[in-house]
Amino acid sequence: MSSGQTEERRCPLCDAIMHVMQEEGNYECGRCGSMARFREEQLMAMYIPHYHLRLEELSRRNVELVSLIEMESGRGEARSMTKLRSLHEERQRVLSEYSFLSYFGPFTEEW
Ligand SMILES: [Zn+2]
Repeated sequence: MSSGQTEERRCPLCDAIMHVMQEEGNYECGRCGSMARFREEQLMAMYIPHYHLRLEELSRRNVELVSLIEMESGRGEARSMTKLRSLHEERQRVLSEYSFLSYFGPFTEEW
């Protein structure tokens, strides 16, 4: 095994290859712009661009989607199953991105 400097790292967020930055051996992802600090194999700290903004957007979109789903469901016989399905699918994506991003919360606080 070579020393930490040349080891290949993958971005914990998007899985692209990360590059070592000049300073302090931090790693930077060329795809999503995240920065990360590792100790051995372990992620210690992370910077994710627009982290809190993205969480807020997702949380706001979830509230919107819940109300759109309620509205469409409330139309009874006239409701569109296609529309409902696509709203539910979008909500699944929003919730899963939210929960994935939330996992990095403690690491972003260490940055
Ligand atoms: Zn990335």
